[in-house]
Amino acid sequence: MVVGEFTTEVDVLVIGAGPGGYVAAIRAAQLGKTVAVVEKAELGGVCLNVGCIPSKAMIHAAHTYEHAQHTESMGITMENVKVDFAKVQEWKGGIVKQLTGGVGSLFKGNKIQVIPGEALFVSENEVRVFHGYDVNRYRFEHCIIATGSRPIELPAFPFGKRVLSSTEALSLTELPKSIVVIGGGYIGIELGTVFAKFGTKVTILEGADQILPGFEPDMPRLVERKLKKLDVTIHTKALAQGMEETENGVIVTAEVKGEQVKVEAEYILVTVGRRPNTDELGVRDIGMNLTDRGLIVVDKQGRTNIPNVYAIGDIVPGPALAHKASYEGKVAAEAIAGHPSEVDYKAIPAVVFCDPEIASVGINEKEAKEKGIDYVVGRFPFAANGRALSVNAGEGYVKLIGEKGTNLVLGAQIVGVEASNIIAEIGLAIEMGATLEDIELTIHAHPTLGEVTMEAAELALGHPIHVMK
Ligand SMILES: Cc1cc2nc3c(=O)[nH]c(=O)nc-3n(C[C@H](O)[C@H](O)[C@H](O)COP(=O)(O)OP(=O)(O)OC[C@H]3O[C@@H](n4cnc5c(N)ncnc54)[C@H](O)[C@@H]3O)c2cc1C
Repeated sequence: MVVGEFTTEVDVLVIGAGPGGYVAAIRAAQLGKTVAVVEKAELGGVCLNVGCIPSKAMIHAAHTYEHAQHTESMGITMENVKVDFAKVQEWKGGIVKQLTGGVGSLFKGNKIQVIPGEALFVSENEVRVFHGYDVNRYRFEHCIIATGSRPIELPAFPFGKRVLSSTEALSLTELPKSIVVIGGGYIGIELGTVFAKFGTKVTILEGADQILPGFEPDMPRLVERKLKKLDVTIHTKALAQGMEETENGVIVTAEVKGEQVKVEAEYILVTVGRRPNTDELGVRDIGMNLTDRGLIVVDKQGRTNIPNVYAIGDIVPGPALAHKASYEGKVAAEAIAGHPSEVDYKAIPAVVFCDPEIASVGINEKEAKEKGIDYVVGRFPFAANGRALSVNAGEGYVKLIGEKGTNLVLGAQIVGVEASNIIAEIGLAIEMGATLEDIELTIHAHPTLGEVTMEAAELALGHPIHVMK
């Protein structure tokens, strides 16, 4: 034992204060446990500090700027629309501060102790926490690991001066003139759109044959069209191979559909995925089961093979999303308190805040076919929705999938304005075991974007009103 080290006992020790860890801590405290949270950086984790929230703030600012430049068709002329990027960053920083401060207040209100520092397991019941020169020990009855993930670094593009991860890209103080985005997944597309809207010349290199590879091809196609309007160059089937630094930037070499391409830019943004923070926790040393990718193996309650230790969020299998982390956090806390809670993943929404927005929940047509499910589909266009047209956003559609015969709602894919909000109704429908008729017979306020789900249900049932069969 290091001299001066002393041991504190808690019921539940949570490691990591991201959307998984802080939610788990609050729920465990609500259920009567004494809770402490170890955090080596900031409360709120990636989500609040360098992920979901700052990126959405930047997306909103870029969107507002773009809209302000294109209002003539509505009879409004604005002159002198300018961006003060440093001010945008300041505004974004304020939102982050407000939210992370909110987590701090909730911790205080729920009597949750915050332990600054980095946790390392020494046994199944104890961690050491390193904070500067201080080392303290914490013994726990139960532990919830929620240490999240970090950007994957490509060997040929080490993070540094000209090569940014999403974290640095979100905190640039000046707008880059040009940027090459390696990786056309949701983070690359969201941030690429932000820069393009602010006037940066953006080039996207994506290895797959479409951007946003996880989504049905029709959806990214609309996004691609918009990106091209913003003068973004998209190379699919593109393998970034190397780079050469110049006086003012970099030259990236890539193989695109078998041919060598060189792209010059001020910065490179690498968004090729994220890796779980399980390598420096000491979990392997205490015998915890991990997958080949370093994800912690858990059961339906989030319990690892060490019965009093749970794991949630980006460090366990499944999509790396904040709402999944929080959901798992609640389940794990309840399981520790003896409740029969279990995860059920049939309706995890996935949203990309690109332009137009993309959202999906449940299963899509391809998955229905693979599972041998007989299904019906209703695909309703935003162009036939009055509200969409009145907010100047008539592109896209909602596609609703139901089981043939029972008409149970199975899933939806939405591309269009406010897809991120509209998808929630379908998530609830799946969760509740609702049918297409339930959606059809729900009175949706008019004129609203939400009416598209009702119209899609009518279409799937074969009696649409606002489009022809
Ligand atoms: C740019 C970007 C945009 C995103 N946008 C979205 C979005 O729109 N919607 C969405 O759902 N998801 C989004 N995500 C993903 C989302 O941020 C993550 O899925 C989510 O934050 C995972 O939550 P978590 O609690 O598992 O971990 P994290 O949020 O990663 O938090 C883990 C915490 O643990 C701490 N920690 C790690 N190791 C230790 C240790 N040994 N000791 C103490 N503390 C430790 C870290 O400092 C961190 O604060 C985005 C991510 C990025 C990067």
